[in-house]
Amino acid sequence: MIIEKKVHVCRKCQSEAIVKNGANGSGSPQYHCKTCGAYGVLEPRQDYTEEEKEIIIKAYQERSSMRGIERTFGVCRQTLNAWLKKGRTAPTP
Ligand SMILES: [Zn+2]
Repeated sequence: MIIEKKVHVCRKCQSEAIVKNGANGSGSPQYHCKTCGAYGVLEPRQDYTEEEKEIIIKAYQERSSMRGIERTFGVCRQTLNAWLKKGRTAPTP
C-alpha cells in the first residue's frame, strides 16, 4: 500500500508548521504559518519537493536534455523552465 503524503511548507521560511486557513475568494486553500506568521495560498499542484526539484535540476544541468528529463521524471518542460528561472536569482560569475 502506498501512502501519498504531501507536505506543504511555508513559502517564506520553509517551515512545516502551517495550518489551513480556509480559502480565498477564488477558492484556493490558504495557509497560515505558525513559525513566521505568513499567510499564503497553498499550491494545489505542488507535486515536487524542494529536494526533488534539486535532483531534477541537477540532472538537467548534467545532461542538458530537457526531453530526457521529461521522460525520466515526468516533469513538464514549462515546470522545469520555471524552476530554472527561479534558481537564477544569484548573479552568474
Ligand atoms: Zn513561515
